[in-house]
Amino acid sequence: MAAKIIDGRAIAARVRGEVAEQTRAFTDRHGRRPGLATVLVGEDPASAVYVGAKQRACREVGMEPFDRRLAAESSFEDVAAELEQLNNDPAVNGVLLQLPLPGHLDSGALTAMIAAEKDVDGLTPVNAGLLALGSPGLRPCTPAGVMVLLADAGVEIEGAEAVVVGRSNLFGKPMAQLLLGADATVTSCHSRTRDLAGVCARADILIAAIGRPRMLGAEHVKRGAVVIDVGMNRLTPEQAGNKSGLVGDVDHEAVSEIASAITPVPGGVGPMTIAMLLTNTLQAARYQAELERMFDEMDRSPS
Ligand code: NAP
Repeated sequence: MAAKIIDGRAIAARVRGEVAEQTRAFTDRHGRRPGLATVLVGEDPASAVYVGAKQRACREVGMEPFDRRLAAESSFEDVAAELEQLNNDPAVNGVLLQLPLPGHLDSGALTAMIAAEKDVDGLTPVNAGLLALGSPGLRPCTPAGVMVLLADAGVEIEGAEAVVVGRSNLFGKPMAQLLLGADATVTSCHSRTRDLAGVCARADILIAAIGRPRMLGAEHVKRGAVVIDVGMNRLTPEQAGNKSGLVGDVDHEAVSEIASAITPVPGGVGPMTIAMLLTNTLQAARYQAELERMFDEMDRSPS
């Protein structure tokens, strides 16, 4: 029987609708909109498209977008000064530094400068540490989106055998931590894993984030497993033939015959990333408003 398709577009649209509703309530209550700032350094066309989509999504849910663009030759100090200004601007609740940065800039060091409470990408050392400790914090958007997809599909995570292929800081590591936090038994695989097919074939939940077109095939998948394909690989026109040029890390056709549920590419994990960015911005705005309220109360109370 063919696997159930987990429809990321529909689930992301629902999440965005919920965020829009809650954003209206936040704005009514606080008299200001949650603000999200994107920082784009240089003119990389793909990054410009992503930033444009984030700005649009932000406007659509009623948040206030701040669009900061710096020249490709900007120095480390220029970008740091921009981030510091946004960290200190009370109208800005979320700050996102679009990656990758031009080669001469240290993206790790610059990302670390974003105030933890405004780190809506969840990539600063503080938020990565909070996730590792199982403490509340802002979670990286794509793995957080996968957790929403699994919940929506009714997948039981507690006690399940979960295998994550890929161990990047952006996706693989936080994904493994989130699954562990949800009581799965988690294995992380990478380019040095010896028996990749054997390990993957144990998984009740198999998550692929490798960046290699259709690398995981039927031999990697246990019958009835849930398969989440995070890969986004652009094929050349010759490779694509007359089909969409975007494919995942999973051989969708072959694996659909074995899995119980699977995400498509495009239309699976991809749409969840921006939806979770908006969710994180709202969460950040609420947290900051609560902090302000506490400080106001302390100011008013007799010492
Ligand atoms: P990355 O930083 O390049 O990491 C790739 C990971 O795959 C590494 O951990 C690498 O292992 C592992 N790997 C490479 N070849 C392998 C092999 N032959 N066998 C087993 N593991 C192998 O990539 P990423 O940023 O995590 O992204 C992965 C994919 O997800 C990409 O296609 C990206 O476009 C996509 N993605 C999509 C979204 C979205 O939908 N919004 C968001 C993030 C990422 P080593 O660590 O040993 O090198």
